[in-house]
Amino acid sequence: MARYIFITGGVVSSLGKGLTSAALGALLQARGFSVRLRKLDPYLNVDPGTMSPFEHGEVFVTDDGAETDLDLGHYERFTGVAARKTDSVSSGRIYSDVLEKERRGDYLGKTIQVIPHVTNEIKDFINIGDDEVDFMLCEIGGTVGDIEALPFFEAIRQFSQDKAPGQCIFMHLTLLPYLAASGELKTKPTQHSVKELRSIGIAPDILVCRSEHPIPDKERAKIGLFCNVRQEAVIPAYDLKSIYEAPMAYHNVGLDQAVLDAFQINPAPKPNLSRWQDVEDRIHHAEGEVNIAIVGKYVQLEDAYKSIKEALTHGGMANRVKVNVEWVDAEVFDTVDPAPHLEGFHAILVPGGFGERGTEGKIKAAEFARTRKIPYLGICLGMQLAVIEAARNVAGMPEAGSEEFDHEAGEKRFEPVVYHLKEWVQGNYTVKRKVGDDKGGTMRLGAYNATLAEGSNVARIYGGTTIEERHRHRYEVDTKYREALEAKGLQFSGMSPDGRLPEIVEWADHPWFIGVQFHPELKSKPFEPHPLFADFVRAAIEVERLV
Ligand code: GLN
Repeated sequence: MARYIFITGGVVSSLGKGLTSAALGALLQARGFSVRLRKLDPYLNVDPGTMSPFEHGEVFVTDDGAETDLDLGHYERFTGVAARKTDSVSSGRIYSDVLEKERRGDYLGKTIQVIPHVTNEIKDFINIGDDEVDFMLCEIGGTVGDIEALPFFEAIRQFSQDKAPGQCIFMHLTLLPYLAASGELKTKPTQHSVKELRSIGIAPDILVCRSEHPIPDKERAKIGLFCNVRQEAVIPAYDLKSIYEAPMAYHNVGLDQAVLDAFQINPAPKPNLSRWQDVEDRIHHAEGEVNIAIVGKYVQLEDAYKSIKEALTHGGMANRVKVNVEWVDAEVFDTVDPAPHLEGFHAILVPGGFGERGTEGKIKAAEFARTRKIPYLGICLGMQLAVIEAARNVAGMPEAGSEEFDHEAGEKRFEPVVYHLKEWVQGNYTVKRKVGDDKGGTMRLGAYNATLAEGSNVARIYGGTTIEERHRHRYEVDTKYREALEAKGLQFSGMSPDGRLPEIVEWADHPWFIGVQFHPELKSKPFEPHPLFADFVRAAIEVERLV
């Protein structure tokens, strides 16, 4: 039976609940416990798969093909525990399951209500895998008082009553604003937030207080007194230079100790923090810098490419260099020369994306990298566009394009080098799709194997010829064009095991030009940088040396 830690937030949003949960998970692991982290999101979308990256940031994909909140990425990066479908749920999913059961007649004629039907559905979800780990950490999205979040708060309150005494604790994250005029940290918003929480029956065991200024002991004591929390369980959370400092920082202010105390785990096992000490050492003692351009569409919101940014940081850590990422809007050079925008970078990355906007600019970025021999990593759409670039500019197919952009055009004549994938093999069965299918959950999603060509650059990088990576795409490079492209030097160096779907392409005569149909960034960790990112940054360092 697991112990449960429920993490809620108050005062303002974006305080870093996800990061705090992930760091706490890492600290519990360092003490020898097994953990799993979950996210319960109050919004009504069934999952974030259909939400705009501009609005919600990146969609994080799990091995088992769920499209989830980006906080699951933090969880994986800090704990190394692969997230599953059952680690992320929204109000939309809960309600849709309840309504489906109602239609099936599962409730035997009862009137369906938020309590108990919706709350039961939430509790059942939280309880999945109860016997698998020592600690289950459940983060509730949004802030206390949000209308949509109420059923979740009610469900976790009930859940703690259903379980044995001492099996669940509540951790609440708040903000202590600083008033410069009076030079004071203000505790009142925290008091109000806890009052709100208590009014729905939840008494926090631990308070984590974000603050830009040191919190004096006097204030900690005051918060403890007014919020009915032990002073040692009022944990300061200060701003950090790097998110990867969070586990050590939280350990140093006693978060993991406070959690073990709240569960009365005594004596507490000693932590082994060597992993995080090494991570910090690599961040603080970088021996050089490289500048990498991410040429994308969603550049206004950095969270849209969260995992890529983190994977590049990990690649830097593997090589002991600092990676400076610059976001370049591809649309800016859709119709003009990209050189003034791209010169000076040691490497170029074109990430995944959807829709036509900005694609001509990205194709130009791929051409620039190919002809100037700059390291290029194309991910998903970034691979598809690299293939279109090769077809247009090297293999004599000026009309090369993708059905994703051109199928609407009707009249427009084009060569569908990238086509809408309608059938593929997953395990023992064949998945079928049609144009016009629902948008939600219908892509080729989750972990698939690929076989790498012996002697290819990628086989060297991975150190083997069988890999498993996560996918999220609807379109695919057509193998019909393989021969023509390979004749010009674009090697199809990774294929699906049945040989039907191109997974990786690389230019044979280029120092480092790789396009991948999958998302390697989703599996990178600070303590286990993804080999593609580690080698991409290594190649960027070589360029830096030449400049
Ligand atoms: N839009 C492309 C597709 O659906 C690429 C997807 C992506 O980059 N994740 O195939």
